[in-house]
Amino acid sequence: MARWSWFGKGRWQAYSEATSRILEDAHQEGHSSVRISLKHDDYNVDLQTMQQASATQPSKSRSVRREDTEVSSQASTSGRSSFTLSNLTRSLSEASLDWAQRPCCTVASGDEKLSVQRQFSDKWDKNTGPLPNIGQIYKIHVIASVEERFRRCCEEIGDVPVFGHGESPGNQQRRFHGTRQTCNFNGHPCDSGDCPACSILHTGFSVDFIGSTSGNRGYYGAGIYLTSWSSTARGYGGSENVIIVTQVAAGMVEVVRQRTTAAIPEGCHSRVANKSSGKDELMVPLPAQCLPLFLIIF
Ligand SMILES: [Zn+2]
Repeated sequence: MARWSWFGKGRWQAYSEATSRILEDAHQEGHSSVRISLKHDDYNVDLQTMQQASATQPSKSRSVRREDTEVSSQASTSGRSSFTLSNLTRSLSEASLDWAQRPCCTVASGDEKLSVQRQFSDKWDKNTGPLPNIGQIYKIHVIASVEERFRRCCEEIGDVPVFGHGESPGNQQRRFHGTRQTCNFNGHPCDSGDCPACSILHTGFSVDFIGSTSGNRGYYGAGIYLTSWSSTARGYGGSENVIIVTQVAAGMVEVVRQRTTAAIPEGCHSRVANKSSGKDELMVPLPAQCLPLFLIIF
């Protein structure tokens, strides 16, 4: 029988055998959702989005996964066992990266715009104000070495559990990064050293920016900060604010609720802070974990 688990407290936790049976039966019969009773509450499990939501507090949802027992034993021998953050850092520093190229931006296609606009409006908290008008959305074409280091990073992380809309390998998630753009951007990244957005377009994310220009103060440790909330990312950078939609190799995630600058635990690749406000921050320690996808200008 397949193995069913839910994600909580930073790790995948197995359902009881009885609950797993209910989930598996519903899955086999092709139902789109199923109701289960756990210790404290009844839950609705959406078998299409693989989310479990409390019947009394539907906004509190958790990721659910189903593994074919055969596949999961394969995954643990191929990728995860040998992986550590220090191995990844070493492997990437050995990669020869050619920076002598120029990035470019093109106006996003209709489908790309629609997908970015949808994510932006779905994750806009209306309590912070009305949905802002988007001026333009550009597709970012990074230089080959930035793309290459991201691809390698995902492969190094391997087939770890994926949550939400994530993709394998590397548990890739699409997140918002709010920053400043000080130039009059018209599709060509400027060469000014103090235009944070264009610096990201040129050479990808860099640890040089942490704390100084991205607007974050590193409450959850040293790294690059992203969020699933467009309204949070829109808060950074004042009138010069732009948002870089970024593909992030989140890997194994440590989940925290309090501020901490401690190192991410061995075996984890990123830290998610679920704040009391209901908002979140995703912190990744390595620039290679981020691939800039789109630039949103207001
Ligand atoms: Zn610029």
